[in-house]
Amino acid sequence: MSDILDVIKDRDPGEKEFHQAVKEVLESVQPVLERNPEYRQTAILERITEPERVIMFRVPWMDDQGQTHVNRGYKIEMNSAIGPYKGGLRFHPSVNLSIVKLLAFEQVFKNALTTLGMGGGSGGSDFEPKGKSDNEVMRFCQSFMAELFRHIGPNTDITGGDIGVGAREIGYLFGTYKKLRNEFTGVLTGKGLGWGGSFIRPEATGYGNVYFAAEMLDTQNDTLEGKICLVSGAGNVAQFTVEKLIELGAKVITLSDSSGYIYDEEGIDQGKLEFVRRLKNIRRGRIREYIDKYSEAVYTEVDPSLDYNPLWNHKAECAFPSATQNEINEKDAQTLVNNGVTLVTEGANMPSTPEAINIFLDSKLLYAPGKASNAGGVAVSGLEMAQNSMRLNWSREEVDNRFKMIMKSIHQSCLDAAAEYGVPGNYMVGANIAGFVKVVNAMLDQGLV
Ligand code: NDP
Repeated sequence: MSDILDVIKDRDPGEKEFHQAVKEVLESVQPVLERNPEYRQTAILERITEPERVIMFRVPWMDDQGQTHVNRGYKIEMNSAIGPYKGGLRFHPSVNLSIVKLLAFEQVFKNALTTLGMGGGSGGSDFEPKGKSDNEVMRFCQSFMAELFRHIGPNTDITGGDIGVGAREIGYLFGTYKKLRNEFTGVLTGKGLGWGGSFIRPEATGYGNVYFAAEMLDTQNDTLEGKICLVSGAGNVAQFTVEKLIELGAKVITLSDSSGYIYDEEGIDQGKLEFVRRLKNIRRGRIREYIDKYSEAVYTEVDPSLDYNPLWNHKAECAFPSATQNEINEKDAQTLVNNGVTLVTEGANMPSTPEAINIFLDSKLLYAPGKASNAGGVAVSGLEMAQNSMRLNWSREEVDNRFKMIMKSIHQSCLDAAAEYGVPGNYMVGANIAGFVKVVNAMLDQGLV
């Protein structure tokens, strides 16, 4: 196992985030390989860790002053054993090959857990949408799609949102794809309700994250009612995580963006959440503006000299990291445990470092890895794809019923796989094994391709 990781590291030494994701999965699936020697004989690990296709391209665009800029675009088609590639697009200056490979790799197992037929992929660009006008974002999206369109399609590779890619960007990307292909198909998910979108897609990742937390608590005859919760991020996932937590009677006391975080001891209620929504989705402002409106809250600016994130230092019972990768390090995890947090459910992808995860697992708190707990987003994207293929729109109730069933089934698959392999209650190992087995069995059936 470590030989395989060494080869991967030697081949692509700079890809730290990708190595981190691969290491976690390889360690989790060790007992599966011991029981199934055919996986080793067919080099399944070497194959599943190598993308089927890596595409990188130039994205030139012009700003409002007539200045030309060049960004880099990425598309990783990681694994298509159980369905067409499916994953998100991320627009953020930190995007590089390592990040998109990490996201695509995680997506393979996450999509397998949803019970829907979707392979794994990801993509994005180092473009920074913050501070850009709508016209600049539109021109960038048009240029990005002018290359991407030749690689994707409703039966090949379907893409959706992630950090920096929301309803506005999906609209511009879809419009360009449609024009270039002269086809109206479900090649992008997260579309507007009036033009092929699905009910509950915007809410799905955050809601699903909270449903997963509720399922975990239910195994201990507990609920979210009255629980004090820390949430990071202030984007799509964070907003709908907070909304569902409020609905279930929990109290959320933090939110953040990349500049800092707010602490609101009285709790973020529906009215305050509405303010955050307008601030972030319409005015595209910073979370610090929350205290201009709600002066009882406290804002703390990010201090890069700290080796911990003070957001995780507030006394609470549950934590929902919903911003970005590696936002909880070992020190943060220890603080959470010391402060009495008994549940960590990941809305973001890989928000906890491996050292942080070890602390969670050692302390026996309820810990849900993102590939299980944030799978609601891609699950409803899968339902959007199904509706697009049939040219039908399901009602909100129909989507919601299917969505809740899928989240329950993901939770149960994690528990079952963890118990079968001798680590009951370990959702991380359970998620990795359940996703892995489904994908590698399909790969074996399909031969060396
Ligand atoms: P958004 O762009 O809507 O929001 C991201 C939030 O996280 C913003 O508040 C942003 O702050 C903050 N953030 C981003 N990068 C950093 C950073 N480096 N340090 C601190 N804060 C940061 O993205 P989403 O809500 O869609 O995604 C959040 C996470 O959830 C990501 O990890 C994503 O991969 C994951 N996810 C998203 C899904 C979806 O359906 N959207 C599905 C599954 C997982 P700022 O505004 O300052 O950049």
